[in-house]
Amino acid sequence: MEKERLVDSYGRQIDYLRISLTDLCNFRCIYCTPAETLPLVPPAQYLTRQEILRFVRIAGGLGIYRVRLTGGEPLLRKDILEIVKALKDVETVRDLSITTNGSRLKPFLKPLKKAGLDRLNISLDSMEVSRFEEVTRVKAYQEVMDSVLAALQLGFPVKLNMVVLKGLREDEIIRYVNLAKNHPLDVRFLEFMPLCGTGWRPDLVLPISEVRSIVHEKFNLIPLPRGKNVAEEYQIGDGMGKVGFIASLTESFCNECSRIRLSSDGLIQPCLFSDKQVSVKDLLRSGATDGAIEEAIRYAASIKPKGNYFLDEPFTGHEKDLEKYAKTPLIRSIGG
Ligand code: SAM
Ligand code: SF4
Repeated sequence: MEKERLVDSYGRQIDYLRISLTDLCNFRCIYCTPAETLPLVPPAQYLTRQEILRFVRIAGGLGIYRVRLTGGEPLLRKDILEIVKALKDVETVRDLSITTNGSRLKPFLKPLKKAGLDRLNISLDSMEVSRFEEVTRVKAYQEVMDSVLAALQLGFPVKLNMVVLKGLREDEIIRYVNLAKNHPLDVRFLEFMPLCGTGWRPDLVLPISEVRSIVHEKFNLIPLPRGKNVAEEYQIGDGMGKVGFIASLTESFCNECSRIRLSSDGLIQPCLFSDKQVSVKDLLRSGATDGAIEEAIRYAASIKPKGNYFLDEPFTGHEKDLEKYAKTPLIRSIGG
């Protein structure tokens, strides 16, 4: 008998799971993590491949068919290829993707393709080497760019994520969109969010509307149906690719949210901005039945909040409000 699908208390169907495979990262992006090393989850606490697989199978029975692997940097996980292969063998996983900083991606591309990975999100925060190094605090621009081009050559659908920060210049925005005009990829501009460990700076938030108006002015954009997509997306007229805008703070999309997250140490987090979490690690490690794990997943969905604190009061960016936003509680980031 088919199980009842996973629906939260606000009637939103949950069909998308983001799994953080590790908290480790070889970058130190200024919006994500402090320059000094963070107290990290000890690797022994990370869910094993078998535990992740079991969780995904059970979640799949509840209608979760899209899975994204993230981190930290997921390619630092030594068994990443085995994880991808095993997840692709789960019948319910119809769409499997990875979000990566791209620095170590190139040699993994062919094996990932062979393992069945469906798509890639690659983060590239600047197309200017010096700015890239300022934001990520590492020298890896060329490796990331090479990975992006090699991924396209291998036929991977690629989304290129860029977190927009105050100071972003118009010519750089245009460079990004031109990249999507000349290649079959999807460039996505993301608003900076107040996640834990970021050194959150509300004064650095650049409202997406400012980026969007520049792009609209310079390019012919054809709107694409939004559906449940968190990004507002456009096909670039006369171009090969697309451009998207993700405005978590100024134009909340919580009403359409269909995702839950699983942390590297086995906490289900129903909302990126909420500190409500449900642990499944002990259940997975203590011989709990599938039914008990299913119940934990359903409970996590039931406590998914209606939205983040920007749903009712969108971020204004006004100088007078900056002090208020500086007090925004920070949440442990599970995969951005
Ligand atoms: N290390 C991988 C990467 O950078 O792609 C995967 C993990 S990272 C946390 C996932 C995504 O979240 C990246 O695209 C990153 O740019 C984004 N991200 C991280 N911190 C963010 C923040 N404070 N605001 C907005 N996006 C953020
Ligand atoms: Fe690492 Fe990704 Fe965070 Fe940058 S955004 S520090 S690459 S986890």
